[in-house]
Amino acid sequence: MTDYLIKQISEDGQLRAYAVNATDVVTDAQEKHDTWSTSSAAFGRTIIGTLLLSAAGLKGDTKMTVRVEGDGPVGKIVVDGNAQGTVKGYVTNPHVNLPLNDQNKIDVKGGVGTTGTLSVTKDLGLKEPFTGQVPLVSGELGEDFTYYLAKSEQTPSAVGVSVFVNEDNSIGVAGGFMIQILPGADDRLIDILEARLKEMPLVSELLQQGMRPEEIITEIVGELPMKTLEKMPVKYECDCSKERFAKALSSVAPVDLQQLIDEDHGAEAVCRFCGKKYQFTEAELKTILAAQ
Ligand SMILES: [Zn+2]
Repeated sequence: MTDYLIKQISEDGQLRAYAVNATDVVTDAQEKHDTWSTSSAAFGRTIIGTLLLSAAGLKGDTKMTVRVEGDGPVGKIVVDGNAQGTVKGYVTNPHVNLPLNDQNKIDVKGGVGTTGTLSVTKDLGLKEPFTGQVPLVSGELGEDFTYYLAKSEQTPSAVGVSVFVNEDNSIGVAGGFMIQILPGADDRLIDILEARLKEMPLVSELLQQGMRPEEIITEIVGELPMKTLEKMPVKYECDCSKERFAKALSSVAPVDLQQLIDEDHGAEAVCRFCGKKYQFTEAELKTILAAQ
């Protein structure tokens, strides 16, 4: 198991820490959507952020959708996550490949844009889903997730999300961390953490050195004794099915269904999360129409 997420809490109860190696998850996403470097990094960082937020905020059958809607060329990024560490998503423009920024890194900010929103919709099994939304403050996404947690969930946190894309567009490594300060934490600890985070290399560099998620947490918290609460596998998986698309077709206006029957003699539905194609014959469409 190379891809997994670890949840830890400090023995003194001052902070909670999460770290994930999501290299295979982001590789699957890159391959399914044929994303190019800038899109891969923006999409991958959103996937990592969703894995971290889901691990921290979901239980049982609950799920969440993270939407990043900036004014950059990548367009909208949507990622669904659940409490079991499964994600799926899509990006409006997978083929964005901007020149590197002045730090010689992928220009995620340029791809995402700096004006727009980050929103998180949680379906906790209640009557209404909960949605929290913040304006983008950076476009690099790590800071945007941090801002979301502070503003919308009143949880002081630090989030790092990082993707390394190889020359051939394949994913080298991908991963991230999230540190949450719990109520009553010592101010001195916060100062120490801030200083360590400033000095710390990118998570992608730590992963390239072969570090495991728990070692990434140690890199941040130092000597602070931690205990592991959970270690869970993470994966990219789509739960689409022909039945689900049939259900969607049954809510299409009868006049439009009739048009598909008369003119196209069938229909093809493409899943935007995984690219899988589902064919509906004329007879199947007629059955759907008759059942309306
Ligand atoms: Zn699918």
